[in-house]
Amino acid sequence: MGTSKAAVFMEPLKPLEIQEFPIPEVEPGAVLVQMQMAAVCGSDVHKWHDSSAKGPMIFGHENVGSVAQIGRGVVTDALGRPLKEGDRVVFRAAPCGRCPSCTQGLTCSVNLLYGYIPSDKPPYIRGGFSQYIYLDPSPWVLKVPDEMSTERALLAVIGNHTTLLGLEKIGGIHTADTVVVQGAGPIGMGGLVQSKISGASRVIVIGGPESRLDLAKEIGADDTVNIDDYPTPEARIDRIRELTGSIGPDMVIECSGAPSAVQEGLEMVRPGGKYLVLGQATDYGQQPINPSLITRKAIRVEGAIAGVAPYSYIVRSLEAMNSVVSYPVEKLITHRYVLEDINDAFKAHESYEAMIPVVLPNG
Ligand SMILES: [Zn+2]
Ligand SMILES: [Zn+2]
Repeated sequence: MGTSKAAVFMEPLKPLEIQEFPIPEVEPGAVLVQMQMAAVCGSDVHKWHDSSAKGPMIFGHENVGSVAQIGRGVVTDALGRPLKEGDRVVFRAAPCGRCPSCTQGLTCSVNLLYGYIPSDKPPYIRGGFSQYIYLDPSPWVLKVPDEMSTERALLAVIGNHTTLLGLEKIGGIHTADTVVVQGAGPIGMGGLVQSKISGASRVIVIGGPESRLDLAKEIGADDTVNIDDYPTPEARIDRIRELTGSIGPDMVIECSGAPSAVQEGLEMVRPGGKYLVLGQATDYGQQPINPSLITRKAIRVEGAIAGVAPYSYIVRSLEAMNSVVSYPVEKLITHRYVLEDINDAFKAHESYEAMIPVVLPNG
């Protein structure tokens, strides 16, 4: 059935290589997806730097594509709607239903993670930085509403579903709460948007560079604090007190990934407030924090990561992006690349030049 070009990670710090793979026969229950848009995520860049990472592998785990071929037996998407060739979809591997994580209602811990599977044997094409991606039998496939842009569909699966889960775990945002978001990257933008649609009266984003803060304002931030202007934790905490004119924000959402941000957030949040930690996906080892703040200020602390968000959060994140989010979030996708230029996309991510760079594997 032809071939698929893909960008392949061979070894750490080596440019991704464009290779051509045979597209396998679509077996019963499987689905072949033609990729439309894949985001270059911080995790991809991180893995590219990771000296223990092994190739060959086709990255790309935040994906939107269209159904190219449906194996025998697949007739509906995850919500029971008829599925046909040409439908735009987001997708995951199906949960196994019997591992400890599935048993606890969390995301399956043993199923395939597209974008993280070695491409050394058939069916090879298992990541989004490829013209086609092959989904094993019984995939979890969710149709994207016709009226929705591909950009919005992609944003729904970049952090927003995880943030939705985190906000629920911590007891939600109450109407007219003041929220501070630490970090002005893609996760921070998700924290900002989710806070606004949850009823926050005021959201302040801390981060940099200025271009990212300008973008934050365009999609709803009421104020921003540039870390170049306020370079120390003390200066930022004072600035937040000044802006909120109070004992501190009701909620702080950590989306920066900087280990030192956690102590700063604990100091920043008001007594009795909430601290949601979403950005600490990389393990930098032990960090100094003062745990007494949690007790003495009676702070509620929660965390969340994509790997624990049940698929129902993807359903709701997609619906929210389609019907609730009125901000021009498409602007967060700042850079677009054809597959052959994927290494430039990685550079644009690393240099903070791009907010979200995407690859269009079929041009
Ligand atoms: Zn990611
Ligand atoms: Zn499972």
